[in-house]
This record gives sequence, structure tokens and C-alpha cells, in this order.
Amino acid sequence: MRTLDDLDVKGRRVLVRADLNVPLDGETITDDGRIRASVPTISTLVERGAKVIVCAHLGRPKGEPNPKYSLRPVAKRLSELLGQEVAFSPEVIGTETVEGLQDGQVALLENLRFEPGEESKDDAVRRAFAERLAGLAELYVGDGFGAVHRKHASVYDVPQLLPHAAGKLIVAEVEVLRKLTDDLERPYVVVLGGAKVSDKLGVIANLLTKVDRLLIGGGMAYTFLKAQGYEVGGSLLQEDQLDQVRGFLNEAAKRGVELVLPVDVLAATHFAEDADYEVVEATAIPADREGLDIGPKSRELFASKLADARTVFWNGPMGVFEFDAFAGGTRAVAEALVASDAFTVVGGGDSAAAVRKLGLPEDGFSHISTGGGASLEYLEGKTLPGLAVLED
Ligand code: ADP
Ligand code: MG
Repeated sequence: MRTLDDLDVKGRRVLVRADLNVPLDGETITDDGRIRASVPTISTLVERGAKVIVCAHLGRPKGEPNPKYSLRPVAKRLSELLGQEVAFSPEVIGTETVEGLQDGQVALLENLRFEPGEESKDDAVRRAFAERLAGLAELYVGDGFGAVHRKHASVYDVPQLLPHAAGKLIVAEVEVLRKLTDDLERPYVVVLGGAKVSDKLGVIANLLTKVDRLLIGGGMAYTFLKAQGYEVGGSLLQEDQLDQVRGFLNEAAKRGVELVLPVDVLAATHFAEDADYEVVEATAIPADREGLDIGPKSRELFASKLADARTVFWNGPMGVFEFDAFAGGTRAVAEALVASDAFTVVGGGDSAAAVRKLGLPEDGFSHISTGGGASLEYLEGKTLPGLAVLED
């Protein structure tokens, strides 16, 4: 993979695909981790006298302009972190803004996903948008690790149209993930949680061939509990995945992989910060309750299953950590990783945000990845479109 050192950027217009997909509360950025992770590449290009054009997506506006998903607040934060002005282009194809750039200056284009071409499954539609985007620049730097598993115009097509290199974030992320795939130290324990049940069920099949232990919490645990025949009340559930999950349970047993599920949960009356809740056995969730976090016995169990690990990968919060009352399970897993002297990697936007929100030391982990889906697909051994194109 070519890196920034292989590109002569001085005086040239360089399009950087970054991952600036940060959580927002109105216009307030609640976790700026991904913006900070994008700074090393951008500031290196600035120091080397490039005209830097940053592009990125935010949320899922589905191909239409939507002020709710504007990158404008991100431009402001990026400018603070860089210590210099960032010209914000309200147009995605911001020709005018780009033309005004001097060497060493930075512009940020509006949310790529305001354009239907960015995510289009139609190669020709995507390619047409990619050509307009590529027309803004002379060189391309891929640095949006969190998006490299997407076959999107800015990730997959533009680097085929311009001389390109990988940015510092992508290089760093790939180095860590390589360690998780090449001769890792065992026991290897993977902890999965979060809400995107269907996204993650896919990776489990592959992980079952690699891990010694798989701990499952968060919203996805309920599909497993249901597959074992227990009622889960109003908890998150993917009925259509039950057969597949039953298959995983069998496969784990056959392979001798220890699959660990919560034994108790915090069962709330409804999905709210101040909802009433009680601790119940995971096998006895009342019909009118929903599980919003793993319970105290599960926290101890998970910590004990992490204690002797030599390698740990964790993706997905154990509960609705955004609500203080339901952040305890996520905290327990995070603390177990901090206490561990294993090689510990946290992947996933929300998981990384949880670590910071809970005030845990970022250097307590070997690596905090900016990519959730991307790291999971890398670990699965899949070819990531946005990495493959940077490789040739
Ligand atoms: P990541 O971004 O780390 O990959 P996900 O996006 O898959 O993680 O999931 C994060 C979300 O999962 C959080 O917003 C959290 O509130 C939610 N979540 C976790 N456990 C539950 C649960 N039991 N019920 C509902 N939502 C949950
Ligand atoms: Mg997420």
C-alpha cells in the first residue's frame, strides 16, 4: 500500500476521504474521536503544502440533502483541532470553495451521502458521481477507515480515477488488525454487543472458527436467548435470524468454542433514561419488560471470562450506555479490558464513544479502532473494497 510519503503533494489538490461520522446531539458533537483520528493525515498534508479537500459522510441521509446531517459543525471542530480555518463547502461538489484554496489550506465538502451517487448500487451511477468528485482534485488519499468496507463512490471509485495513497489512520488500523489475524496469542476472546444485530450475526460464523471464547451481550444477546427457547419480552429481537443463531449455538458446541451469554439483565419498563427496572434472570424476562443492560452476575461472569485472555477484540456496548442507568455492563467489560495485560482492541463507533464517555483511560487499551463494521469485516477475512483499491 502506498502511503503519504509516496505522494508528491506540494501545491497539488488532494482529496482526502476521511471518516468524520460522529454522534451529534442537534449541532453538538458528543464524541469527536473520529475527527481527532483524522487530524494526523490532514495536518501532514498541510505541512507539505497541499491544498487539502476533505470529504466524508455523516449518518444516513439516503441520497438527499438534510440539514440534520450537515457536516458544518464538524468543519468547526476540525478547524479547532487543526488550529487553522477550514473552509466549509455547502455543496458536495464544492468547485468554488476548492478553487479558492491556497497551498496549506483545508476545505471540507458537505456530506457525501446528500448525493444519491455516493452509495448507489448501480456502478454507472456511482462512477458518474465519482468522476465529478475526482474532478475536484489531482490526488486521492484514503483515510476513512470506518467506511472502507463500503463500495461507495468516494471510497471505491475515486481512487481508481486518481493517483492514490493510504493515509496514516488506515495504515495504523490495518497494522493492528493484522496482529489480530496473524498468529495471535491465545486464549483469544471476542466480546460482541450493540444493536446492529443482523450486521453482526454475519461475522459470528467466521469468528467461531477463530476464537476460543465468544461473549455476547447488548441488544444481540436477546436473539440468542430466544433461540435457546427463552422469552425476551420487549427486548431487541431479530426473529428472522433465529434459525441462523441456532446454527451458531450448535456450531460453537461442536467446535468447543465457549459461547457465553448474559445470565441476568436489567429489565426496564420502557426505553428511557429514567425507566423503572429490575434485575431478572436472563431466562425469565417478563413479557412487559425489555432488557437494556446485562446484570451484575453477567458483569462478573464476563470479567472472569476475560481475565486469562491474551488477545481480546471487543465490539458493541453491553447495554444502552447512553443512559447512565444502563451503562454498567459496558463499564464492566471496559474495565476488565483495562485491567487485562492482553492485547486489547476496541472496535466500533459507539463502543469507542462509550469508553470515552465513561471516562476510561484511552491508553488502557492496546488500540481503539474508529471502525466497527470495517474492523469486523477485516477480521472475517473479507476483502474490503476501500482497502483493495488502495493496494494497487
Ligand atoms: P458499535 O458502533 O460500537 O459497532 P452498535 O452501533 O452496533 O455498536 O451498537 C451501539 C448501540 O447499541 C448503542 O446505541 C446502544 O444503546 C445499543 N444497545 C446496546 N444494548 C442494547 C439493548 N439491550 N437494547 C437496545 N439497544 C442496545
Ligand atoms: Mg454504531
